[in-house]
Amino acid sequence: MLHVYSLSQGELVSIDGKHPMVYNYNYIMRDVNQASIKGGSMNGERIKLARKRAGLSLRDLADKIDSLVSAQAIGKYERGEMTPSSEVLVALSKTLDVSIPYLMAPQAVELGRVDFRTKSTTSAKDRAKVETEVLEWVERYLQIEEILSLESAVWSVPEGLPSNVTTPDNAEELAVQLREKWSLGTDPIPNMTELLEEKGIKVLIVDLPDKVSGLTCIVKQPNREGGTPVIIVNKRISLERRRFTMAHELGHRLIKSEGLEERAVEKLCDRFAGAFIASKAHLESEIGKCRSAFGYSEILTLKKLYRISGVGFLMRLAQIGAIDENAKEYAFRTFASGWRTSETDPLETEKQRGEFEKPRRFERLVYRALAEDMISPMKAAELLRQSIAKVEEGLKGPARADANNR
Ligand SMILES: [Zn+2]
Repeated sequence: MLHVYSLSQGELVSIDGKHPMVYNYNYIMRDVNQASIKGGSMNGERIKLARKRAGLSLRDLADKIDSLVSAQAIGKYERGEMTPSSEVLVALSKTLDVSIPYLMAPQAVELGRVDFRTKSTTSAKDRAKVETEVLEWVERYLQIEEILSLESAVWSVPEGLPSNVTTPDNAEELAVQLREKWSLGTDPIPNMTELLEEKGIKVLIVDLPDKVSGLTCIVKQPNREGGTPVIIVNKRISLERRRFTMAHELGHRLIKSEGLEERAVEKLCDRFAGAFIASKAHLESEIGKCRSAFGYSEILTLKKLYRISGVGFLMRLAQIGAIDENAKEYAFRTFASGWRTSETDPLETEKQRGEFEKPRRFERLVYRALAEDMISPMKAAELLRQSIAKVEEGLKGPARADANNR
C-alpha cells in the first residue's frame, strides 16, 4: 500500500492520518542525502512510472510541485541525466504518492512481461499503477529474503510435466500430473495462496479495476536466473474467483504459449485451473455417492467443498461429462441465472473480502527477522508499511487494556 507523507515537526506523518510516523524525519533525510551524494542511485524509470500512474504529463507534475523545477528538469531526472535535490525528491514522493526509498532504489528488479487477464479493458494508467505497486512490494519481499538468506522458495517447473499442452485433455492431464509431482493427492486444496507461496510463486492481493481478475508477471533480478514469478489477484473479487484466478495464472507458468492463439491459451489455462481445483477422480467419487439427486443444495455443498464458484463448478461438471450441455444451459437459465454476477452462498461475506487465504509468507518472514534481532522495529515497519506501534503489537501481542490504570 502506498501512502502520502508530509513533513511536520521533524517527523514524517501520513497525510491521511491513518499511517503515522512510519518514517522519522532524520531517517528519511539521511537516505535522501545519501542519494544526493551518491548521485547515481536515483531511479529515473521509477519517477516516470509513478508519473504515468498518476496520469500526469511532465508539465502537470511540474505544476503540482509548485514549479520547484521545470518540466524539462523532470524529464532529465527520468532519463537519468540529472539528479533531483532532496527538496525536489520529497516533493515528488508526496505528489506521486510513492515512498522515497522506492524512488531511489537501484534498478535491480524489473518487470518482465505482464499478462493481464482482461487486456482490452485495462488502461495504461491502471497498468502503471499495478506495475508500480508490484515492483515496490517485490523489492521489499526480496530484501527480507536476502536478510534471512533464504533459498527455500525458489520457483521451478517440476520436471517431467507434459510440455506440449494444446488440447483440453492435455490441460486436464497436466493438472493430474502436477498434483502428483507436488504430492497433493486428489483432495480439494484448502489454501491456494499458501500452496503457491510454498512453491516459490509470490502472491499479491491488491485492489484492481473491477474487470481485471488477476495477472501474472516475472520479476527479473540480475543474479537470479529465470526470475521470480508473481501472481497478482484482484482483492475485489470473491474468494472462489481469487482461487480460480491463482490456478489460472499458475497454468500460464506451466503452459507454453508459443504457436498458440491467445484465446486458446486462456481456455487451456481455465481448463487447467478447473481440473487442478476439482480433481476429476475426486469429483467422480463424490458425485458417485449421491448420484440419484443432482439438486440445487448438493451443488452448493460440493462447490463449497472444492472452494470453487458456482459457475466454475457447473462448468466443471460439464467438462467431466457428469452433466450434458443441455443440463448446463438449463441450470444457467434457471436456478443459476444470477450466479455469474454474484456468488451464491459464498465462503467469505462481502465484508470479509480479501480476508481469507491471505498471503502470509512475507509478513511471517519480516516478523521472523525481527524476532531474531536481524532487523530493527523501524526496518520492519518500513518493510510492512505499518506503524512501529503496530509492528510491536505484532511481535509482543496487544498491550493490555488495563495497562494505563495500574
Ligand atoms: Zn490468462
